[in-house]
Amino acid sequence: GRHFNVVIAGGGAAGLATAASILRRRSGISVAIIEPSATHFYQPGWTLVGGGVFTAEQTKRPEEGLIPSGATWVRQAVAGFRPDRHEVALDDGATLSYDVLVVATGLTLDWRAIPGLEETLGRNGVTSNYRYDLAPYTWKLVRGLARGTALFTQPPMPIKCAGAPQKAMYLACDAWRRAGALKDMTVAFDTATPALFGVPAFVPPLMAYIERYGIELTLRSRLVAVDGDRRMATFERTTTEGTTRIERGFDMLHAVPPQVAPAVVATSPLAGADGFVAVDPATLRHTGFADVFALGDVAGTSNAKTAAAVRKQAPVVAVNVLATLDGKAPVATYDGYGACPLTVERGRIVLAEFGYGGKLEPTLPPWLLRGTQPTRLAWFLKERVMPPLYWHAMLRGHELMVAPRTNPGA
Ligand code: FAD
Repeated sequence: GRHFNVVIAGGGAAGLATAASILRRRSGISVAIIEPSATHFYQPGWTLVGGGVFTAEQTKRPEEGLIPSGATWVRQAVAGFRPDRHEVALDDGATLSYDVLVVATGLTLDWRAIPGLEETLGRNGVTSNYRYDLAPYTWKLVRGLARGTALFTQPPMPIKCAGAPQKAMYLACDAWRRAGALKDMTVAFDTATPALFGVPAFVPPLMAYIERYGIELTLRSRLVAVDGDRRMATFERTTTEGTTRIERGFDMLHAVPPQVAPAVVATSPLAGADGFVAVDPATLRHTGFADVFALGDVAGTSNAKTAAAVRKQAPVVAVNVLATLDGKAPVATYDGYGACPLTVERGRIVLAEFGYGGKLEPTLPPWLLRGTQPTRLAWFLKERVMPPLYWHAMLRGHELMVAPRTNPGA
């Protein structure tokens, strides 16, 4: 098979940003990006598609134009990882060998884990902002409903952008409120998690919106089945008394599926106990194979799985990959930063930024972003600043405000 200095598995947010960052630091090395899809999606935009702010088309671009110059696009899927032989196997049967491997294949949406869901998606009022083709259907349903029951669900962690299930709901409620329909709607949020949000500081501002919109909130409640034709959802609810199953009818159901490591990763020697790639949380180097790194949603780290996390991880991995190529120890470290812009109403966002352990890590000073309170500035950042920052800075290896912390003594 062909040999590259660096092989990157996955050309999504993490793979592209890392390739660009590596090549900006050092040209002349061979870098392969293995990515089967001809289209790249800006997934953070899907919340705004479901909220009627962006069109779906605004969130996609051809992969070809995003591959950094100097990198080779291998348009295949990885079929197997063989880290003991420093090789990956491809779908077409070929193998690629590497000096350093970067795993960035993202995660898998496990729609099948909820019987009945997949076959009714896009029909019968069942939607999800977690799919490009369905986010416009969310907005269509919201616009079309003036009374009835709307259910929003969140699966157990880990999921990417843990705020996205409730973002969809707040934007829907705000649209109904503006149309004068909210008073005739029953809106419920069932989340499998034990709290509304994982970082306690953000719970009170979100609870204020739950109350303002009159949302029925049920914690530790998991969507376990959907009957699209009957418009019935089944939940499994856990309380101190035990677990009960309840059925609930709906006019609209916004469902978010459980999320797992891709099978090709979970069944490989790279997987930790949870199936995600076992890496050191600071250096993002594999805990067993010194020439393997992982970042983005596939990394087995406890940060919020977001593109915002990728923005900070990519330069760390780039620096450490180059150190590894030079026979040195990894020197750059990641502190777990991730960000979740919670769209609590059209025009206002609570920007949750935090690192490992839920430590608050605001980028902007509190007089600009008012801490955990919703602001118009944060909405402006989400609608107008983040998308160009993603396409033109992050994916191109221009690292604004993200000098990776390095420890020269390491
Ligand atoms: P992805 O971008 O998903 O890319 C993975 C790539 O790997 C894909 O291109 C895929 O085709 C490829 N791949 C898969 N399997 C293989 C294989 N076997 N071989 C080769 N390639 C493979 N983040 C934020 O920061 N802010 C937000 O507001 C936000 N909102 C979100 C809202 C929604 C509805 C969703 C779905 C996500 C949101 N995110 C948000 C999360 C963000 O999109 C992800 O965290 C980010 O895309 C992760 O990047 P990644 O490269 O790890 O995965």
